[in-house]
Amino acid sequence: MTAPTALSAFLELSDSQLIDGHVVRGEGAAHSDVRDPATTDRIGTIVDATPAEVDRAVQSAIAAQKLWRKSNYHRRSELLHDAAREMKRTRPLVAEMLTREMGKPYKEAVDEVTWSATATDYYAEVSRHEAGRVLGPVVDGQFNFTTKEPLGVVVIILPFNYPLCLLCWQAAAAIASGNAVIIKPSELTTLTTLKFVEAFAGLPPGLVQLVAGGGRVGQQLVSHRDTHMVAFTGGIETGRAVAQACAGLYKRSLIETSGNDPFIVMPSAPIDVAARGAAFGAYLNCGQVCAAAERFYVHERVYDEFLLRLVGYTKQVRVGNGLDRVDMGPLASERELERYLGKLRLAKEQGVRTAVGGGRPAALKKGWFVEPTVLQDVPPEADILNDESFGPVAPVCRVASLGEAIERANHSRYALGSTIYTTDLAEAFRAVEEIEAGMVWVNAPLLDNDAGPFGGRKQSGMGRQLGAEGLDTFRHTKFNMIDPAARPHDFWWFPYQDAESFPGRDQAPGARRDV
Ligand code: NAP
Repeated sequence: MTAPTALSAFLELSDSQLIDGHVVRGEGAAHSDVRDPATTDRIGTIVDATPAEVDRAVQSAIAAQKLWRKSNYHRRSELLHDAAREMKRTRPLVAEMLTREMGKPYKEAVDEVTWSATATDYYAEVSRHEAGRVLGPVVDGQFNFTTKEPLGVVVIILPFNYPLCLLCWQAAAAIASGNAVIIKPSELTTLTTLKFVEAFAGLPPGLVQLVAGGGRVGQQLVSHRDTHMVAFTGGIETGRAVAQACAGLYKRSLIETSGNDPFIVMPSAPIDVAARGAAFGAYLNCGQVCAAAERFYVHERVYDEFLLRLVGYTKQVRVGNGLDRVDMGPLASERELERYLGKLRLAKEQGVRTAVGGGRPAALKKGWFVEPTVLQDVPPEADILNDESFGPVAPVCRVASLGEAIERANHSRYALGSTIYTTDLAEAFRAVEEIEAGMVWVNAPLLDNDAGPFGGRKQSGMGRQLGAEGLDTFRHTKFNMIDPAARPHDFWWFPYQDAESFPGRDQAPGARRDV
């Protein structure tokens, strides 16, 4: 038997679901094509899971989780480490598939598989580090403690931009905590995800399942009476719909939505480094990063120099098929292309000036490619500053002080990440303290740490993934109190002592008092 290639794997996995440990052909009728964003070639097909298939997946998850929740932490850890090892072994194939299905450069796809493995290894260990705590009792001889319990069946709804590492940030924490997971990938990355989840094949059947399809499948999983939690990552409006549906059911949810991150540059920064960091922060993954740098507030003393250097680095970005020697691939779909070009058109209509880019690369005749773009002297009211662009554009604004930069950074309904370039310690601390965001990166844009919590504030989301916080996202905390001696608690039980009665009414208990 020959080893599968990326193209043969797409065909083999087309129209499939992973239910109860088996990759099965979907029974649904709603097929859609999967296209390579760099070539627009059809590389496979997917089919929406039927309501009956979704229901089968939920029932299988319930059965698997009942046993899994009783498994010891050492076993969970061993199996998750095995999965991480398998991710590393299959990294070249899965990375090639991710590039072909979603467009990101191969180097970024390889990185993503690596981060998926490190997050899985992290939770394989951290989950057994702490499973509750002992509290000082309020009664002599008692034992007071908390325990952690799994939630049950966790639904994981994923976006297209980081489909594998977000899957692991959530699934590894959930599984390590004793839950079963059902994954609903984006329609744009379903086939790669089907291949990737083979890494979990050593876990009991039903513990990790994948149902393909669009919003209707996601909705069914969210509202299903036998799912217990929803971890959603995606756009702000879809997130709102999912959060509302969960609230109506009192179902726990992790909501990770859109960002519109500020990037501040102060005169003390090494301006060339800041400009390189800016180009990376804005154009990584063709700008399709929730925590991409989307609004640049640059101190007026260094504005011109920063702009010049950012334009220089922007011109150096090589755009093309992610399997070639490039820095930036295409946008993930034709719909994303139209949406993003609409944002650039609106910016032009609103009088925003383009410093470089702004169109589509003339040399690339096929594929959903766009140029990395710098916009200059962007007015505060321009839509491009106030909404997520989710494309490779860097709108640059001039500010007079750090105070103004922070005020403008905070003037947003979004609050995911934020970056500041400065070598002034006081400025760095002020930014850490005053910027309203889930993450503040000082001279280190977009870096994550498996051990550090990731998530947003305001309408960028609710809850945290990664770190110890990301483990509790998938666990109940139960408070327990044990009195080993089973003694009466006279200090507060009936009958109350006369001596403890209201001192103004000095008579036998129950006696009537004449007025
Ligand atoms: P999206 O359109 O909101 O879709 C996200 C997921 O939700 C997809 O799997 C989608 O299915 C599914 N879905 C659609 N309607 C649904 C419904 N009514 N109920 C349940 N699920 C539903 O987002 P996207 O375009 O894939 O991803 C881009 C967005 O994700 C950006 O805004 C980005 O900022 C955000 N994001 C946030 C983070 C974070 O950590 N905060 C990380 C990465 C990305 P289909 O698309 O398959 O139809």
